[in-house]
Amino acid sequence: MYCRNCGKEIKDDAVFCQFCGCEVGEVVVKTNNNVNVTWKVFARIAKVLGIVCLATSPLLGGFDAIPGIVFAKLGMKSTDPAVYEEAKVALRNNIAALIISSVILTLFFVAYIAIIFIAAENGGL
Ligand SMILES: [Zn+2]
Repeated sequence: MYCRNCGKEIKDDAVFCQFCGCEVGEVVVKTNNNVNVTWKVFARIAKVLGIVCLATSPLLGGFDAIPGIVFAKLGMKSTDPAVYEEAKVALRNNIAALIISSVILTLFFVAYIAIIFIAAENGGL
C-alpha cells in the first residue's frame, strides 16, 4: 500500500510509515470508514444529479447543476480511489451541464435581443 501522508510505497501490514512516521494501516482505515461512507453517498448523489442535470439543465438554466457540483466536491474528499473517481466524473458531468445550459441561455438571450432590435427597426415596437 501507499502512505496517505507522503505517498511512498510501504508494507501492507505497516502501522507507521517508515519514511515520514505517519500512522497508516488498520487504525487509519477504521477511523476513516464512517467518513468514507458519507463521501460515497455524496459521490453517488452527485453522480445521479450529474446525469439528471445533463438531461434537464438546458431547461432549468443550469442552476440544478450547482448542488451536484457541491456533492461531487464533497465526494472527492473520500480516500477510496473508486469513490473519488466516481465523484470526479460526477463533477465533470455537473460542470458540463452548467456550461451547456449557460451557452444555451446566452444564445436565447442574444436571439431575444436580436428579435427586439429587428422588430424596432421595422417599427414594430
Ligand atoms: Zn509516509
